[in-house]
Amino acid sequence: MSILVTKSSMPDFDEYIEEIKVLWETHWLTNNGEKNRKFEKLLKELLNEDFVSLFTNGHLALENLISAFELKGEIITTPFTFVSTTNAIVRCGCKPVFCDINKQNYTIDVNKIEELINENTVAIMPVHVYGNVCNVERIQEIADKYNLKVIYDAAHAFSSKYKGKSISSFGDASMFSFHATKVFNSIEGGLAVVQDQTKLKQLNLQKNFGIVDALNCVEIGGNAKMNEFQAAMGICNLKHLKNEIEKRKKVFNQYQNNLKNVYGIVIPKIQEDVESNYSYYPVIFDNYCFDRDQIWEKLKENDIYSRKYFYPLTCDFECYKDKFFANVPIARDIASKVLTLPLYADLELNDVDRICDIILSKKGNM
Ligand SMILES: *Cc1c(COP(=O)(O)O)cnc(C)c1O
Repeated sequence: MSILVTKSSMPDFDEYIEEIKVLWETHWLTNNGEKNRKFEKLLKELLNEDFVSLFTNGHLALENLISAFELKGEIITTPFTFVSTTNAIVRCGCKPVFCDINKQNYTIDVNKIEELINENTVAIMPVHVYGNVCNVERIQEIADKYNLKVIYDAAHAFSSKYKGKSISSFGDASMFSFHATKVFNSIEGGLAVVQDQTKLKQLNLQKNFGIVDALNCVEIGGNAKMNEFQAAMGICNLKHLKNEIEKRKKVFNQYQNNLKNVYGIVIPKIQEDVESNYSYYPVIFDNYCFDRDQIWEKLKENDIYSRKYFYPLTCDFECYKDKFFANVPIARDIASKVLTLPLYADLELNDVDRICDIILSKKGNM
């Protein structure tokens, strides 16, 4: 059987059916029904946050955050991410300014942010890429010095902690994605976390057309609400989150043990003070006897599908090429050498061994 890079977590069939049964009584399928309210309450407890708003997906949560903060101008971000980050900035009428990443954990290089700031800069949008935590302390110092907003694309970092605090507690706002392929899913879904009631009210208006009641529309909002079936899936999956992360950790460590101390293979570093969700297993092939593309091919020949996340860089996609400033040599180098190996809770440890054997075998397409 083929092994894909990820496999969506699902609760037992009966568990989900039990959760959605009531919807056949109430016929309340969306518009902040009881499942949305329950899910938001559980998320507030888990994240230790007061102001959270569910969205139908992470991307729209990100776009709505940019609008809620009324950002107009340049936003400093990184191109080593899923294209959603850059698209959200551009679709909201802002200009992405691409900052390079650091070699240690592939998040924004905090030593290169200040040189990109000018009078048009309004915000920084760093990405906790692969669930690696950005240098949140330094980013906040810079933001405070230049009076910039900080909105984290935390799509990969749901439930992670830094120095014992929820990752969502840093910056002005964070977005989590609950897409089927993420560590935790509500089929599709997203969460915006903000730090005050006013912003929360604004987000809740924006995601429902700007309607306050039957006779009043006070905002030019869109529609980005989560429906009740998504929320019910989230509620069920949330019960298993801790266990799923435990299992992911075992898979992650199995890779670490198999691939450590191999010349030319750079494995992920566990960050200090971080409680990780083990969302991805990115490996850099740098002067290894096979290059990244050859390893991808070798695995594919064995029906194992890894991903070249994040290649190409978003600034190199056709729709962005040469349109925005991007002096990003480290990001470009990493993008050409990185491969994200299969990682999900139910991946068998002997399959991890098999994947590593293929990577370490000197046979193959030389
Ligand atoms: C998945 C993802 C998004 C978008 O989230 P969706 O829920 O798929 O809309 C945004 N940014 C990053 C880095 C992602 O990986």
